[in-house]
Amino acid sequence: MNRILILGGGVGGTLVANLLVKRLRRPIDDGDVTLTVVDSKGSHVYQPGFMYIAMGGERAERLARPERSLLDRRVRLVVGDVVRIAPESHVVELADGQWLGYDHLVLATGSRIVPEAIEHFAQEAHHFYSAEAALKLRHALDAFTGGRIVVGIAGMPYKCPPAPLEVAFLMEAELRERGLREKSEIHFCSPIGRAFTIESVSDMATPILAQKGIELHTFFNVETIDPERKVVQSLEGEELPYDLLVLVPPHKGAQVLIDAGLAPAPGGWLPTDRHTLQVGGRPDVFALGDATDLPLSKAGSTAHFEAPVVAERIAARVLGREPDARAGSYEGKVVCFFEVGDGKGTLLQFDYDHPPNPPKPNRFWHLGKVVFNKTYWHTVPKGRV
Ligand SMILES: Cc1cc2nc3c(=O)[nH]c(=O)nc-3n(C[C@H](O)[C@H](O)[C@H](O)COP(=O)(O)OP(=O)(O)OC[C@H]3O[C@@H](n4cnc5c(N)ncnc54)[C@H](O)[C@@H]3O)c2cc1C
Repeated sequence: MNRILILGGGVGGTLVANLLVKRLRRPIDDGDVTLTVVDSKGSHVYQPGFMYIAMGGERAERLARPERSLLDRRVRLVVGDVVRIAPESHVVELADGQWLGYDHLVLATGSRIVPEAIEHFAQEAHHFYSAEAALKLRHALDAFTGGRIVVGIAGMPYKCPPAPLEVAFLMEAELRERGLREKSEIHFCSPIGRAFTIESVSDMATPILAQKGIELHTFFNVETIDPERKVVQSLEGEELPYDLLVLVPPHKGAQVLIDAGLAPAPGGWLPTDRHTLQVGGRPDVFALGDATDLPLSKAGSTAHFEAPVVAERIAARVLGREPDARAGSYEGKVVCFFEVGDGKGTLLQFDYDHPPNPPKPNRFWHLGKVVFNKTYWHTVPKGRV
């Protein structure tokens, strides 16, 4: 029996499915292997584009495509919410009552935002972690005529760690262009003792913050928002008044993973082997992307480089061979573009053993991100890069 079941049709799930077709085409065509993706919406969303709805004229309708159009025709797509996973009996249940059995399970359910975890977040704070919220932030920026902007992070871990810094840099450039910079202050709050978790990236970003006149507040873990006084308060006891508040919302893993006992509450991140990507020591369950507890960026890029490892390991199980020592081991590779405003960007490229050494920001890496955003649909999910 070789029923491969992939939960989640985002970056990780879609790519694993298409890579498995490349490795297992013959047994799939012969009917010896089935490959199924379950996704709650059946629509694949390019989330990095949300930032450009808020900052760069992007439109939500350009950021979603039918999941079916991205999957090889040999992959069965089931649209529905997975509400129960029973790892002991190798079945999952969907909200419509359908049961699906598996022999190999891939958990690629991503992360979800939980702004409701912080009182008054919904009324007071803006963010760009959904298309709707990003559009609301765009409207708030259009109406902004000067004042105090506070950009912060309301919970770790969150996806795309550079995103709040990028937004601070892009907003600063926009205010300058609109002649509002003199009438505005920008404050950037980091939950840790420096601007960014990775030291070399922090060393690159801190002088840029200073040069742009963005005030850095370290050890600022957002705890409460006071809507009366328009003040955001940190766990450490600092208070910052705001006219416009932009906060990365808290994130969690999928509830169904917690309910199944696969991921511990409250975070819901799957205990994942850093090299094999197996979950909780189970030989038949793999995870990738935002859903894991790996100490790496929650980024599409992470899922992108993890997917070939999951595909190799499952293909080896199906074909009854050992996984290839190199192709079957994830070494922590991540590659991310990083906008710094004024049409410039840099690149963060790293793995478990090699921290990033970002080049001096320039136009080339900004254009790299623009091109990547435009070509995504034809490359990453289809396994072409
Ligand atoms: C503003 C923003 C900017 C970003 N910028 C970058 C960037 O520049 N570079 C980068 O690499 N990454 C970036 N990211 C992060 C990137 O989008 C995510 O890390 C990536 O999408 C994670 O892939 P994934 O496959 O793990 O999860 P996702 O792509 O989120 O896919 C998860 C899928 O699982 C489905 N699902 C969840 N629960 C269930 C369930 N119970 N039943 C059925 N289906 C379910 C969901 O519907 C979804 O389709 C950004 C994200 C945001 C929000």
